[in-house]
Amino acid sequence: MDILKKLAETDKEVFELIQSELKREEECLEMIPSENFVSKAVLEAMGSVFTNKYSEGYPGKRYYGGNEFVDKVENLAIERAKKAFGVPRANVQPYSGTPANFAVYLATCQPGDVIMGQALPDGGHLTHGWKTSFSGIFYKAVQYHVKADGYIDFEEARKLALEHRPKLIWVGASAYVRQFPFKEMAEIADEVGAYLAADVAHISGLIIGGAHPSPVPYVHIITTTTHKTLRGPRGAIIMVTEKGLQKDPELAEKIDKAVFPGLQGGPHDQTTAAIAVALGEALMPEFREYAHQIVRNAKALAAGLMEKGLKLVSSGTENHLMLIDLTTIAKGHGVFAQEALEAAGITVNKNTIPLDPSSPFYPSGVRLGTPAITTRGMKEPEMERIAGWIAAVVNETRKYALPAGKTEISGYVKKFKDEIKGNSVVKKVREEVKELCSRFPLYM
Ligand SMILES: *Cc1c(COP(=O)(O)O)cnc(C)c1O
Repeated sequence: MDILKKLAETDKEVFELIQSELKREEECLEMIPSENFVSKAVLEAMGSVFTNKYSEGYPGKRYYGGNEFVDKVENLAIERAKKAFGVPRANVQPYSGTPANFAVYLATCQPGDVIMGQALPDGGHLTHGWKTSFSGIFYKAVQYHVKADGYIDFEEARKLALEHRPKLIWVGASAYVRQFPFKEMAEIADEVGAYLAADVAHISGLIIGGAHPSPVPYVHIITTTTHKTLRGPRGAIIMVTEKGLQKDPELAEKIDKAVFPGLQGGPHDQTTAAIAVALGEALMPEFREYAHQIVRNAKALAAGLMEKGLKLVSSGTENHLMLIDLTTIAKGHGVFAQEALEAAGITVNKNTIPLDPSSPFYPSGVRLGTPAITTRGMKEPEMERIAGWIAAVVNETRKYALPAGKTEISGYVKKFKDEIKGNSVVKKVREEVKELCSRFPLYM
């Protein structure tokens, strides 16, 4: 890319790594549902001189001088966020989704308070109370689950809420294939007087584009990353709804204080500028079409995979992602599918499935989605071909299975990786993927 001219001169090592990454992104089908390709405009804003500035505080209330233009760009990002989601308050400073969620805890809870979220193996996020995350370490976390059909188990969630009286409840997840039940979760939160926070990290682009219902009427707080379906830089936004301000008129100030000085120092102003650009793009009519095409593509891909004999969690999808249930081959088979698909140029991630008989490190599913390939311009006919490739490659992994002895696993997987690279079906798919990708170029 032309913007790297100086780097090519001054630092060959880093330049070449960036070029290699660009080539990988160009020649592979990026199907990890939390990833996307930002526009060149977003890249340029991220690479701008705003990276030079310190601006602790908020617009009009900074600890450093020289923030005339930082104030303007941050206000622009805030105004665009408010407009895009239809909310009265927004904070665009969180460094990423995890610190954004941490700030919500700081604003609403004391350490040791009870919180509730969707369990990680059931598709929830680490920050919703999982034991290895700050959220499960500093708070008493109660976790709700999904049923075997993939839908959230409200009965369990309500029972847990009545029993444990959480102060904060999360709705939102990283591997959930159905529309989020904001209304039903609001009934539970209201019944116990809890704050309800929607973490729409994965689906914020779909919400802005009208391809997923909005949580705004039902929840008090919304957090989102900006780099998934929203297609911006790595960052996050925390919003407060009218309902949130009614519950607690100070809520937005509490969140601002939690972000800074509670949790962070100076905001990443170059990221703020790029968030403003991404939100500007998301407010264009083309973005609505993009959001709807993501979902159409996901539905077409899911239908194609099932037609080719693969089993999907919940037998389909209503959003941008799906989960292949590989227990029909063997428990813990996700790693084989992920590695074989990677060798074929299709990037996905192994993932737990509901009631996974294996472990989170060797889960029995694969998660894949359409946001990034839809950005490239691919549509239903391409999904049909991709479904065929995925089924063919997964089929080649059937004869492999995790050894029973834990110490043998890593050696076995390494041997599998070497072997599968030479598999003729995998090699053929790799060539066809490359050819398809060349017809949907990136960053021209
Ligand atoms: C991705 C994600 C996050 C965290 O984002 P990071 O930027 O990786 O910290 C939080 N919540 C959900 C539901 C996510 O999917």
